[in-house]
Amino acid sequence: MLAIVARRFDTLRPVRIEIDRGFIAGLTPVPDQEGLPLVAPGLVDLQINGYGGVEFNDPQLTVEKVRRVALSQDPFGVTSFLATLTTDSHAVFAQALAVIARAIGQSGEVAARIPGIHLEGPFISPDDGPRGAHPREHVRPPDWDEFARLQDLAQGRIKLLTISPEYDGAADLIRKAAKTGVLVAIGHTKATADQINAAVDAGARMSTHLGNGAHPQIRRHPNYIWDQLADDRLVASLITDGHHLPPAVVKSMVRAKAPERIVLVSDITSMGGMPPGKYHTGLGELEVLPSGKLVPAGQPEILAGASLAMNVCVANVMRFAGVDLPTAIGMASMRPAELIGIRGHVLDVGAAANLFMFDLPAADSPDRLVVRATVNQGSIVFGRV
Ligand SMILES: [Zn+2]
Repeated sequence: MLAIVARRFDTLRPVRIEIDRGFIAGLTPVPDQEGLPLVAPGLVDLQINGYGGVEFNDPQLTVEKVRRVALSQDPFGVTSFLATLTTDSHAVFAQALAVIARAIGQSGEVAARIPGIHLEGPFISPDDGPRGAHPREHVRPPDWDEFARLQDLAQGRIKLLTISPEYDGAADLIRKAAKTGVLVAIGHTKATADQINAAVDAGARMSTHLGNGAHPQIRRHPNYIWDQLADDRLVASLITDGHHLPPAVVKSMVRAKAPERIVLVSDITSMGGMPPGKYHTGLGELEVLPSGKLVPAGQPEILAGASLAMNVCVANVMRFAGVDLPTAIGMASMRPAELIGIRGHVLDVGAAANLFMFDLPAADSPDRLVVRATVNQGSIVFGRV
């Protein structure tokens, strides 16, 4: 039995949380005391490409490498995330999907943290801009048979598919994938309003990192950003790392969509935690700029992913969009959990004990929640309680 005393993230009331066999067994009010951390359901990140020099798009991916990335997010309060694979050859996908599925099957530590896989590509736009840092040579039109083969290799673990609806066959693939329970997202696209509408009619329910994976310059209207922003059937994921979207865009998108249709993602890559410089990766030559911005080498205008984690994204959305803590936690925890079918991800008796304890941003680090401890399935995996 583990007991935690902390201040609830939603009511700010101090509570004693009793944890037994991985679940919240008791939750009782206690007298106030100074210095208590806040507590909230663990953060859920739908887009993690790797960390600390390891990327999931690795032809030599191993179960041990998957395990390292799985554990790497504990210090950031993340209790669940989707291992994300970006556009690559069928051979690399086949290998990586099989290894990730094996890691989940073999390792309790991995299974506790990685509920599934986000396949971002390969059925995306070939155009510079929308394609982002995905290698053009591996971009291909939608192919249901290939997706079905990949899903088999992944042992059914692909929970989220990002696809561009700019192809004729896209709506058909979206319909089939959505029918099998996969969450389908529109992303890395130059689709028209009609194509976006057809994709949503076919079952697409999310926009992947809206406002990124786009041309540097587009017609003011209509365009694929407004079209997705205006469709209430689409939840938008936003990378609020401070580099991918300016604060005014984050604020406008949160207001336009309403917070219940926003989820935060880090899009963190193997460059997370790495010093500035050029690196050879599965996405080609990448460069970490002194500002922390991650770009294809020599193309400082085009982003190639992120290096900051969810505790930063939560703090930023509070500052940029002027939302309160419970709203920001909803975008980074409960809402993404619901989207991928994690049930009962709440701070309540009976819920799985996936929690994190934290302080609000401090004066010397205004851009991040200060994580004090993370509890995954009832075990302390980071810090002290
Ligand atoms: Zn992307």
